[in-house]
Amino acid sequence: MRREHRIALVTGANKGIGFEVVRQLARKNFRVFLGARNVEAGQAAADKLAKDGKVTFLEIDVSKSDNVRRAAGEFSKGADHLDVLVNNAGILLDEDEAILKISVETIETTLRTNTIGPLIVSQAFVPFLKKSDAPRIVNVSSGSGQLAEGADGWAPAYSISKTALNGVTIQLAAALPKFTVNSVCPGWVRTEMGGSDAPRSIAEGASGIVWLAADAPQKETGKFWRDRKVIPW
Ligand code: NDP
Repeated sequence: MRREHRIALVTGANKGIGFEVVRQLARKNFRVFLGARNVEAGQAAADKLAKDGKVTFLEIDVSKSDNVRRAAGEFSKGADHLDVLVNNAGILLDEDEAILKISVETIETTLRTNTIGPLIVSQAFVPFLKKSDAPRIVNVSSGSGQLAEGADGWAPAYSISKTALNGVTIQLAAALPKFTVNSVCPGWVRTEMGGSDAPRSIAEGASGIVWLAADAPQKETGKFWRDRKVIPW
């Protein structure tokens, strides 16, 4: 039996690409949990989208295991299953730093949020996803993590974290054969992280993520995408 609304959770959704993904999914009739670590900003963001459908704020700091576990408990009070998890939350701390000088603290903090975060959020929410008819996990990665064409030295900790996130994607895809698990690059997008010179609007950046979350063929799993096309790892 098909349920009336599919349910999605998007992390890091109080602003930027995550916020827009929530907005677009709500317009597609999803019931969406808007995840954010900052309660005030998250609640305000969810309030802005109230007219677009059923959007509920969920406090979740993806870098903290206890907080993620608590968020899963909170989620279970409002929903009995999850159809789509979008691991969108991310940080960029080292745009102007070089690999030979970067601090271990910057690398650890970046990996904790961008790589381990999506893994522990997936672990915590897989029990709810297993109750879906067609479960999907979308990891928001970056072309800067691609190994195929080498690196140009930009943001090494961030880039390494996204390379490793792609590793998380294929491991999860192998462990969860009934799921659709993919990485996606949104392109270079005009957000706080992307800056004002980026060529893509937030809506353009969100669109490929929303396609994977809602419309891509269910059999397409364990791949890396941009603009609805598979790209090299
Ligand atoms: P923004 O900086 O605009 O937004 C990032 C979001 O992640 C914010 O909501 C932020 O919350 C949240 N966040 C950061 N750390 C945590 C955490 N520990 N727990 C929960 N939420 C957290 O970035 P974008 O919207 O541009 O980026 C979204 C995703 O897209 C990221 O994964 C990024 O790496 C990826 N991406 C972006 C590109 C671009 O050009 N913009 C290009 C390629 C990939 P808070 O407001 O509290 O800081």
